[in-house]
Amino acid sequence: MTVITSSPAVPPRSRVAAPLIEAEGLSVSFASETGFLPAVRGVDLRLEEGEILGLVGESGSGKSVTCQALLGLLPASSTFAGCLRVAGETLVLGDALAFERLRGGTISMIFQDPMSALDPLMTARAHLHQRLRRHERRGDGEERMQELLRRAGVSDTVRVLDAYPHQLSGGLCQRVAIALALAGEPRILVADEPTTALDVTVQAQVLDLLDDLRRARDLAVILISHDLGVVAEICDRIAVMYAGQIVETGPVDAVLEQPAHPYTLGLLESRP
Ligand code: ADP
Ligand code: MG
Repeated sequence: MTVITSSPAVPPRSRVAAPLIEAEGLSVSFASETGFLPAVRGVDLRLEEGEILGLVGESGSGKSVTCQALLGLLPASSTFAGCLRVAGETLVLGDALAFERLRGGTISMIFQDPMSALDPLMTARAHLHQRLRRHERRGDGEERMQELLRRAGVSDTVRVLDAYPHQLSGGLCQRVAIALALAGEPRILVADEPTTALDVTVQAQVLDLLDDLRRARDLAVILISHDLGVVAEICDRIAVMYAGQIVETGPVDAVLEQPAHPYTLGLLESRP
């Protein structure tokens, strides 16, 4: 399948710095009763410093599996191939230790369900304490925990620190998950459908927060979404996935205004 790359070119800063992520030919298959089923097929992906890349496509198109490959979180039942460089480091897919080190600093993630990052029996303080001890950076004191929560857009940090997840709204849980994700001072945040489970007003707040974080800290974000509206709002570039492949990529305005691939056109036409 042809990958269509829209002009104009990427923002100027990318011409000086090497991309934070460069993936080539990523392929992932899962064992099934009838053999190996391909989930991701020859995906090339690039993430520049300080940009938000939107990865869109219908359910089952391979967005999450692509990101699991970037994070070294593929299940043992998968087979994979491809080349990956993250922040200048070439990674051997399947090198669990190298990916664990990467997830301890350079790259972090949040998911659709914030509860997947939170233990119902632990307060936000206990979560942050545990995470900061793991990173062993810049202390794990009260000040640092409050700073992380504030960066994640929490204003009443004292109440939230003492709360268990069930005492917080979905939006606040996602903010706690974002504070945890920021604890290792990552350069890359992978956000897999981070607003899908939230109310519409809270969705907008979380998107604004991702945008603010990117601006304030030069954090680069891969934002996975099946919602083109979400992507159009804050992304710089977009990659459209269909049946395990990236079928179109380019600056978000160019792709959404003049989609070159029939699948992207269909996606646009089916927007509510
Ligand atoms: P998306 O995130 O775009 O909705 P996924 O990346 O989760 O889609 O899934 C892509 C394909 O891989 C789907 O067909 C899905 O059923 C399959 N898949 C994902 N995870 C697994 C797994 N752990 N075992 C087997 N198949 C999987
Ligand atoms: Mg998914």
